[in-house]
Amino acid sequence: MNADNAGWRQLADAVDGLLPQTQCGQCGFDSCRPYAEAIAEGSAAINQCPPGGDETIAELAILLGRPALPLNTAHGTATAPAVARIDESACIGCTLCIDACPVDAIVGARRLMHTVISVECTGCALCLPPCPVDCIVLKPSGEPRDRDAQRLAAPRLRERYRAHRQRLHARELQARNKAALAAAERKKAVIAKALARAQQRLADRKS
Ligand code: SF4
Ligand code: SF4
Ligand code: SF4
Repeated sequence: MNADNAGWRQLADAVDGLLPQTQCGQCGFDSCRPYAEAIAEGSAAINQCPPGGDETIAELAILLGRPALPLNTAHGTATAPAVARIDESACIGCTLCIDACPVDAIVGARRLMHTVISVECTGCALCLPPCPVDCIVLKPSGEPRDRDAQRLAAPRLRERYRAHRQRLHARELQARNKAALAAAERKKAVIAKALARAQQRLADRKS
């Protein structure tokens, strides 16, 4: 790694260290880290993170020596903390919300009711659209916006997101391996059949 790369990485780390790690994608990036990298390379503005709000923008402005712009509301507004709730009587156990939750704040198993681990839920709302029976709602947590609490939770949320991505990736690999194995088995069966037909033709000719 050259000095420029190392410097850029350090800056991206520092920016990432200020972002809330909600992993909600409202900034226009898949998650907090790519937004941090875009800020570090100067290709994204510092005012695109609604969960971080004005407090995070002010911290980013100090870190980067850039002016503290108002939050760009095209990306959303800094709302009061909320938490997801599942109407467990309506849940059909499809598991779609588990995959959608970036910080694995939902537990449940296929065909069983699911529930939200409230203390881990960031209120990002990403679990709502995939639910086929609309049984997830967001409710205000009753807590005020608290930048200190957000800062404290960020490393844990980053780690939970990493584990979530790893779990999805491992499952994808497993599915790909299974499909490749099934394709190889099908190919083997086709070759065996062709071989059997050729042997039969040979035997017929000899008789
Ligand atoms: S928390 Fe902020 S930086 Fe992270 S994904 Fe959401 S909007 Fe982007
Ligand atoms: S449970 Fe829903 S609202 Fe809460 S963190 Fe997960 S996806 Fe976001
Ligand atoms: S997406 Fe909805 S129905 Fe499916 S498991 Fe989650 S809460 Fe239940």
